[in-house]
Amino acid sequence: MTAPILRTKAALRDAVLGWKAAGESIGVVPTMGALHAGHLSLVDAAKTGCDRVIVTIFVNPKQFNTASDLEKYPRTEDADAEKLAPHAVDAIYVPAPEEIYPEGFATSVLVSGLTDGLCGSHRPGHFDGVTTVCAKLFLQTLADRAYFGEKDFQQLQVVTRMARDLDLLTEVIGCPTVREKDGLALSSRNVLLPLETRAAAPALHRVLRQVAGRLVEGESLGPVRFQAEAALREAGFSEVEYIELRSADGLAPLEHPSRPARLLAAAWLGGVRLIDNIAVG
Ligand code: AMP
Repeated sequence: MTAPILRTKAALRDAVLGWKAAGESIGVVPTMGALHAGHLSLVDAAKTGCDRVIVTIFVNPKQFNTASDLEKYPRTEDADAEKLAPHAVDAIYVPAPEEIYPEGFATSVLVSGLTDGLCGSHRPGHFDGVTTVCAKLFLQTLADRAYFGEKDFQQLQVVTRMARDLDLLTEVIGCPTVREKDGLALSSRNVLLPLETRAAAPALHRVLRQVAGRLVEGESLGPVRFQAEAALREAGFSEVEYIELRSADGLAPLEHPSRPARLLAAAWLGGVRLIDNIAVG
């Protein structure tokens, strides 16, 4: 059965207050729609961890740093509702932009430090948009837990920090990246890849694995990264924004995986920006 689609924060508040009054726990899965198996894995985690599950679908204009990217972003609400039906969520919250950003909206939530490098350097203002909307969604849903993918590893770290720093009552839970059989991390943007580039896309994950293997064997990031970037360009990627090794907790730059580490990358293929990351060691 398809879940009720709630479009206003008033309707959402009615639902969540009822659940709260009954002593039920609430999980939220924030998404921008164009749902795929990665999103659905978060839904399943939320279903396991909470009595009630809300999926939010909101293409958040504040987290897009170019107008064309926002315009091109896939919007598939009917298909999304169908994909959610077998998962029996309790509500799908699809707010209009003015439900989130009413006229005169003037507040921004900004996490410093963690947002400085990686995607933060290449997408100015992106994480401020993410943390602002997540703070609002956590408060509007009164969720006990919010489920995020490790696919967007920096985002997971930033949102976790934000929830802790602001004493929000929502605990942020990270879930593993879901991939295609060929290794490509599922992403709503994958549908935008021109057909002729699709076969090259898994190179991003493959190269990350090769780099991780060499780092574990003791090589330094510098020279290995140089070769990795060349390999990606050879595979058809037009630009490599970054390949970086960071501590898994706190995203401190590392040259060797001397403590639990994450290797993260962003690169452009066929006019689409792909990101990926894996644990190292
Ligand atoms: P998005 O709709 O792209 O904003 O993503 C919504 C949530 O789904 C975020 O927490 C993402 O990290 C997560 N997500 C996206 N792709 C994947 C994936 N392949 N595996 C697991 N989670 C994902």
